Amino acid sequence: MNTVHSIKEVRNEIKKWRKEGLTVGLVTTMGFLHEGHESLIKRASEENDRVVVSIFVNPTQFGPNEDLEAYPRDIKRDETVCEKAGANLIFNPDPSEMYYDDASTTVNVAGLTEGLCGAKRPVHFGGVCLVVSKFFNIVTPDRAYFGEKDAQQLAVIKRMVRDLNFDIEIVGCPIVRESDGLARSSRNIYLSNEERKAALILNKSLNLAKQSLNEGERDANKVKDIIIEKLNSESLAKVDYVEIVDSSNLKPAFNINKPVLVAIAVYIGKTRLIDNFTFKM
Ligand code: AMP
Repeated sequence: MNTVHSIKEVRNEIKKWRKEGLTVGLVTTMGFLHEGHESLIKRASEENDRVVVSIFVNPTQFGPNEDLEAYPRDIKRDETVCEKAGANLIFNPDPSEMYYDDASTTVNVAGLTEGLCGAKRPVHFGGVCLVVSKFFNIVTPDRAYFGEKDAQQLAVIKRMVRDLNFDIEIVGCPIVRESDGLARSSRNIYLSNEERKAALILNKSLNLAKQSLNEGERDANKVKDIIIEKLNSESLAKVDYVEIVDSSNLKPAFNINKPVLVAIAVYIGKTRLIDNFTFKM
């Protein structure tokens, strides 16, 4: 496995592989890899001859008051994780390699990006779509792997790929959790011991919602109330949003009569965590 920092080096490698008729899978990440990322890389290496992992803390997807500078980084450890999981190439560019100072192109997926995380993070999905479309053009993978942990991101990327005719299969991969149920996230490192325990409230509140849906509740507001009440029972938790939306278009669902995404964002102390599940009838 090789780590490269320039677009040219990635393209040279891909050209060699293509000459041999090999298929390529891509996993895009911001690094500080954990078992969630690892599951994507493993899946990609099962389904493709070669796997590229991008490790890039993308500045364009962070708002002015977000944690761009503080975002955890550990490229040496990431290289070990990638190698073990079956990656063949890491692309770890500097921001200056990815963005011209006078870049003027934006990628906006309207409709799916205004609600949920997009409501409080107005620049986020524009930055994600821009960087992911750049990675798609640089790597030209056959398949790209995204976690259901970021369910809105997955829906947005699928729509972008459809609308812009990228010839890439987008593969959604299940959420990987800690043994106590907390969804794995690079941001979990920010949590103190006390906050780490409090963070379990996200998964617990979603499990209560799942239970009530399985028992037949179909009123989205009632299910939301169950989640909010449980989250509010934890003094360190502050709800950012609790939403139940139609899985196909991310529009609010009221009567639950088709597949819905139940998604939450919660501050535990200063750390904003997200979690979700999809309920299919
Ligand atoms: P990030 O480095 O946070 O940008 O995440 C890179 C990719 O890993 C995204 O497609 C995420 O959805 C995915 N991912 C992050 N955490 C998890 C997790 N706990 N389970 C599954 N996929 C994840």
